[in-house]
Amino acid sequence: MFAILSVIFGKRARFPRLACPVLAVKTVRQKHQASNELLSLLDKFRRMVNECVAFGIEENISSLMTLSLRSYNRLSPSTLSYYRLGAISSATGILRNYRKAKRKNPRTSVPYAGKLMLTTCYGFKIQSDLLRLPLNPRQYIYVKLNNHTLQVLSGHDVRSVTLTPHSLSISYSKETVDIKPEGYVGIDRNLDNVTVASTDQIVRRFDMLKATRIKSDYRFVNSHFKRNDSRIRKRVHGKYGRKQRNRVQPLIHNVSRRVVDEAKNRRYGIVMERLTGMRRLYRKGNGQSRSYRARMNSWSYGELQRQIEYKARWEGVRVIYVPARNTSKRCSVCGYKTLESTHRRLWCPHCGAIMDRDENAARNIAARGLRFSPNGPLGEAMVEEREPENATLILKVDGGKLSQRPTTTTIRSMKT
Ligand SMILES: [Zn+2]
Repeated sequence: MFAILSVIFGKRARFPRLACPVLAVKTVRQKHQASNELLSLLDKFRRMVNECVAFGIEENISSLMTLSLRSYNRLSPSTLSYYRLGAISSATGILRNYRKAKRKNPRTSVPYAGKLMLTTCYGFKIQSDLLRLPLNPRQYIYVKLNNHTLQVLSGHDVRSVTLTPHSLSISYSKETVDIKPEGYVGIDRNLDNVTVASTDQIVRRFDMLKATRIKSDYRFVNSHFKRNDSRIRKRVHGKYGRKQRNRVQPLIHNVSRRVVDEAKNRRYGIVMERLTGMRRLYRKGNGQSRSYRARMNSWSYGELQRQIEYKARWEGVRVIYVPARNTSKRCSVCGYKTLESTHRRLWCPHCGAIMDRDENAARNIAARGLRFSPNGPLGEAMVEEREPENATLILKVDGGKLSQRPTTTTIRSMKT
């Protein structure tokens, strides 16, 4: 068991986050129908996960290493060791989420894995067009892989498989080398569009209005179902949620693919804002209308970010995040605070420029990318955002440090 554990932790240690060859991971998914044997295995796995979760809560453990060492031998010895490790790893994820949720809300209910799902990194094998999973020693279950899956997987390392009663996801990886960016593209994510501006002043806009409309249509449809039984309500809303996702997802994939392709062709890095706490802005009781809150909360900025990030990683395109503060307010030409004009336009009282809101924000983000990147030319970036107040502030801080330094040394010398 220790050997297997060292493989888990060794794998992590071998690919540190900023090392030159980056490990990029993608997942391919296909449908399948689970046999009775597989269903019983999934159920066994779920029970193991719940056992580990209960043990982790009882003993207050949240790290994978501690949970592995302490709960491994408690799990029923009839199951294969491969699945035991997978269950412990799944339980660690659940425990981590539980801890996070509990910090926000102390009355969070104790987690319990209800859905049938199995994840494993070990024991499986792909034989021609079949996925082989061990059930007992020298007894296997086979799942047929379709042509698309085989085509995608060919030539890549397979990392893990995840099975549910109706779907099979296989994650595969490759080592990519981070391309050193020759410039940056800033991405401004808005509800109705995605604006991309590069450091060589080319601006492109991708329309997302269709996605917003689809979401509003489904919201309208969903709001007209009046069911008293919560189980039926859940089923109906689940179905329409799936339909909505199936229509919106391709639109987002299209935009993210085009953004990453363009960045890759021009050897540019991608810059995005660090958007956090967005949902908190549109909560009940904030004095906004119900429809406005619904519209803003349907904005899938996180999904776009996730897609851009994994696709960029796969192609070796660097992605960096910059603080979102003032990106839409400051003038992208001189750095002065702008005023609102008509038709989503901004007017700069300092240099007189009139520009599009989203374009301005995207330019600011690209400029910040240049400034915050480890090898960007600092002087050039400083021209973009001149803030004299900040400069004096830094001086003051440094001055304080300078005046303090002699006193500490004198104290030290007195002690010796
Ligand atoms: Zn200006």
